[in-house]
Amino acid sequence: MSPAVLAPARPDRSWIDEAVRRIEADYNRSADTHLVPVPMPAFPGIHLYLKDESSHPTGSLKHRLARSLFLYALCNGRIGPGTTIVEASSGSTAVSEAYFARMLGLPFVAVVPRNTAAEKIEAIAFHGGRSHFVDRPGDAYGEAERLARELGGVYLDQFTYAERATDWRGNNNIAESIYAQMAKEPHPIPAWVVCGAGTGGTSATIGRFVRYRRLATQLCVADPAGSVFHRHWADRSITELESCGSRIEGIGRARVEPSFLPDLVDEMIAVADPQSVAAARLLSERLGRRCGGSTGTNLWACATIAARMAAAGQTGSIVSILCDDGNRYASTYFDDAWLATAGIDPTGPRAELAERLGW
Ligand SMILES: *Cc1c(COP(=O)(O)O)cnc(C)c1O
Repeated sequence: MSPAVLAPARPDRSWIDEAVRRIEADYNRSADTHLVPVPMPAFPGIHLYLKDESSHPTGSLKHRLARSLFLYALCNGRIGPGTTIVEASSGSTAVSEAYFARMLGLPFVAVVPRNTAAEKIEAIAFHGGRSHFVDRPGDAYGEAERLARELGGVYLDQFTYAERATDWRGNNNIAESIYAQMAKEPHPIPAWVVCGAGTGGTSATIGRFVRYRRLATQLCVADPAGSVFHRHWADRSITELESCGSRIEGIGRARVEPSFLPDLVDEMIAVADPQSVAAARLLSERLGRRCGGSTGTNLWACATIAARMAAAGQTGSIVSILCDDGNRYASTYFDDAWLATAGIDPTGPRAELAERLGW
């Protein structure tokens, strides 16, 4: 008998079993998010739907991502009892990850840009997480990696792992859920699905799913005008900008994130911040509750596509995403004084969009 080789300490399997059980039980207790029809009187033959991701327990589509990232890291043996979880996040991912970290009894640290909305910092703290500030958004990645090393923790790294942590073939991912909920609509296979890109994970999941299921849907990514993603999509040699310049949180980046997969995207529409804010505010009034800025970016692109379809005499459906709850932006997009300071005037785009949609 040869002596046993001593391996470095690994997390106890019974601890991992319990951690996975807790995450799966949370999922099992949750209902699916609603698919909300949004009438566009100007386009009677075109049906718009928004997948309401604000109704997750942590208020945004990042609830799905956080669940996937924790399960991926647990099942890869990277997390054990007492592991400090670190993430580079402009807010929403951190809020959702703080929720799951607390569920597993793990400390959580978010590395966030200093100008992140105060409501998001409070939401991270509410779920038991701590925020660690960096001055420049681009410094968050390196600082998160360094901090995780220093604390003997794990950097979940949403920007690298978003595209692979989600089961793109199904497992009730956002795409599978959308198509199931569309089944009894007049046009059950959407002509277009429109989403934003922050990590790029959502667009990767949808783009893979439509190919795998052989669906005729096209994928449009709505991108802030200052973001690098649409420039990279048009010319792959462009991979980084000096800064993003957009104030729309959650989407638009200065560097092309590894989880953004341009080959899966059929069209990109650049949307200026005043257009995104105008659309978010107009939609919030229509729905009777607030939605965030990136939802406005999506709506602006949906209106562009709807107008084009109508002009070509086409009918069909468009599905997009209500990404998060607008109450997180009470002191920013919904505050006129803040908008004035930020140099964002939504007046013109608001009138344009209202007229275009017949609102
Ligand atoms: C992350 C995020 C997005 C984009 O989703 P990804 O899957 O990361 O590309 C859109 N809106 C909000 C509010 C987000 O937080």
